[in-house]
Amino acid sequence: MLGTIKKCFFRWINYLLPVRRLQVVQGDVLPTKMPFRDFVLVKDGIEDWCVGFRCPCGCGKTIELLLPLEMEPRWTCKVDTKGRPTLHPSVWLKSGCKSHFWVREGRIIWV
Ligand SMILES: [Zn+2]
Repeated sequence: MLGTIKKCFFRWINYLLPVRRLQVVQGDVLPTKMPFRDFVLVKDGIEDWCVGFRCPCGCGKTIELLLPLEMEPRWTCKVDTKGRPTLHPSVWLKSGCKSHFWVREGRIIWV
C-alpha cells in the first residue's frame, strides 16, 4: 500500500519537474555521487561506455546501461540538441522495484 503511494508520488513528481539532461564524464565507471535526476554518460576516450541514473521510481538504486556494440544486453543513447537523452530499448529491472519504463527526450515513460 505505502509502496503504491510512493510510486504514484514519484511518477507525479517526474511529470511535473523539467526534463532530465545528460551530463558527460570521462572514465569507465559512474561517479560515486550520482546526480539526483540527471543522466550521466560515461565516455572512455571517444567511446560511449555507459549511461547511469538513479531509478526514477525513487527506490534509490543506480541503474547502469552499457552502450558498446559488443555488450549484451546493450542500449543506444541518442541526445538531441537540447541535451535530452533518448534510450533504446526500454529499461526493465528484473529485481528490486521491478520498474519498467522508456526514456524519451529526457522524460520517463512508464510501461
Ligand atoms: Zn526503482
